[in-house]
Amino acid sequence: MVTFKLTHNKRSDQRGVYSRFFVGECALTELADEWFLDKEIHTLNFKCKTWKKVKRKISDIHRPLLMDELDADKIRYSRKAGCQCGCSPGYVVESSNYIKRWLYGDFEYTQADVQEFKTFLSKMETLLEKEKEKQLKTA
Ligand SMILES: [Zn+2]
Repeated sequence: MVTFKLTHNKRSDQRGVYSRFFVGECALTELADEWFLDKEIHTLNFKCKTWKKVKRKISDIHRPLLMDELDADKIRYSRKAGCQCGCSPGYVVESSNYIKRWLYGDFEYTQADVQEFKTFLSKMETLLEKEKEKQLKTA
């Protein structure tokens, strides 16, 4: 079971629909990020559908925990949430209350959660190879 604790909730001077949420401790985000770098997704010359699946998975896992706590309408994971270079991945939090915030929190996972995500990532590895092959054929 995944649990979540909000550690920091700071209103920005600006108002806006999009807030940013960053995780302190998050084993799954770290694993996804490692996967992205290891597979060199940024060097691919096509829009990677497999990476999109990884992003969707990580958003799906965390969304139920975050929606209420962050008073959000929509939440999605982005490697570029904090910076264009990818140094601070996090979540883009969309909220109709128009209060722009900087949020921080920690997730805790069981070993089983982490193992399940690792299994998912290895399946994605196979899928990525297939996607690359397909791209080569159509190129
Ligand atoms: Zn950066």
